[in-house]
Amino acid sequence: MAEETIFSKIIRKEIPADVVYQDDLVTAFRDINPRAPSHILIIPNKLIPTVNDVETEDELALGRMFTVARKLAADEGIAEDGYRLIMNCNNHGGQEVYHIHMHLVGGRPLGPMLIG
Ligand code: 5GP
Repeated sequence: MAEETIFSKIIRKEIPADVVYQDDLVTAFRDINPRAPSHILIIPNKLIPTVNDVETEDELALGRMFTVARKLAADEGIAEDGYRLIMNCNNHGGQEVYHIHMHLVGGRPLGPMLIG
């Protein structure tokens, strides 16, 4: 059984977060340390520690993460200019919180994709 992270407490509203969207499958909230004018984390309500742990039965939630990203990008007013979706996996990927999350980042030119 995977160990819960602070993100499970955010989903259950046990600790404060700036939640911008929630439904039966996913929750989205503003990153506490934003790297751009818009920086939102979109997470499945089910605890999946890393992308390596994704299962076929998770496909509905993972697809919902994208449709919610599209909606939130429009809500943020960044859809036309563009934005970046990022998912980090494990140590080399720079993952800090072991509950998978999609970063939606935009609101300024982000430059070329950073590696390293
Ligand atoms: P990772 O490096 O795992 O892909 O990204 C984790 C992200 O979660 C970081 O951008 C970090 O700022 C954010 N984060 C960590 N703890 C909290 C928290 O308690 N609340 C919110 N809103 N964001 C958090």
